[in-house]
Amino acid sequence: LSKIKEGLKKTRDSVFSKVKNILSLEKLDAETLEELEELLILSDMGVETVEEVIERLKEKVKEVKDPNTALKKVLIDILKEEEEEKKEAPKPYVLLIVGVNGTGKTTTIGKLSRIFKEQGKRVVLAAADTFRAAAVEQLKVWSERVGADFISQGQGADAAAVAYDAVMHAKSKGKDIVIIDTAGRLHTRHNLMEELKKVHRTIGRVLPGAPHDVWLVIDATTGQNGLVQAKKFAETVNITGIVLTKLDGTAKGGIVFAIKKELKTPVKYIGVGEGVDDLKPFDPEEFVDALLA
Ligand code: GDP
Repeated sequence: LSKIKEGLKKTRDSVFSKVKNILSLEKLDAETLEELEELLILSDMGVETVEEVIERLKEKVKEVKDPNTALKKVLIDILKEEEEEKKEAPKPYVLLIVGVNGTGKTTTIGKLSRIFKEQGKRVVLAAADTFRAAAVEQLKVWSERVGADFISQGQGADAAAVAYDAVMHAKSKGKDIVIIDTAGRLHTRHNLMEELKKVHRTIGRVLPGAPHDVWLVIDATTGQNGLVQAKKFAETVNITGIVLTKLDGTAKGGIVFAIKKELKTPVKYIGVGEGVDDLKPFDPEEFVDALLA
């Protein structure tokens, strides 16, 4: 818990510690609820979600007397996913990573590769952000650091061709996981979205059913703007998961709840620092415990 707790310090200090204090000291009357509402809105939870939290809390305290425990239960319920059936992972499993530049895409791919490597998986990284030379180079460095195969055609190459190569490579060499980095330049949004569609389509042609997941990286410090970006991406490709980075850099960690409510897409991992071990699987109970610690 400690790393996640540390990463959520700003959000806790500015919002949730106060929430906890209010709920321990005062009766859950209209005034307290209003104060609570204002605090939660500050955390970027989104007005609708805050209203839902308040309504559910009023119900919950009827059965769970302690308001803090009741709030904890309500928050966990909102974040909880239906249990997924455990299926055998396809091989190779292909994961496409999308998101705006600067959100932490490449770093996240590096951290994920490390997690997968530690599970004994053989990983291939594909540099399909062919727009920026620095992105290709950065991914190469990560591949060397974690011991993953690296597939690239250099800057300016066709992104779909790189993705194609990577999946072919994984198929022929019996690799377990392919992670594909993609471009995230916003100023040429139309081209970007067309490129993503093409990458997606091409992968599906080499390996039916792939990509098996498309994860969108969102920078928590961009708050509600991140949600707007996310909706743009979701119009283009079917996003199956979210990685929320830089939670350590914001007091607005309540954005997790807004993502869950508005995007209806599960948060898979959270970034709580720049270090290689600072990407953590998202667990609702652990997260809420850290918020109300
Ligand atoms: P990309 O342009 O989306 O590929 O973004 P990068 O992977 O290059 O990351 C941009 C910056 O964000 C880098 O300085 C990363 O170290 C930093 N970063 C990524 N994830 C996190 C995180 O969870 N916390 C913090 N504090 N910084 C992060």
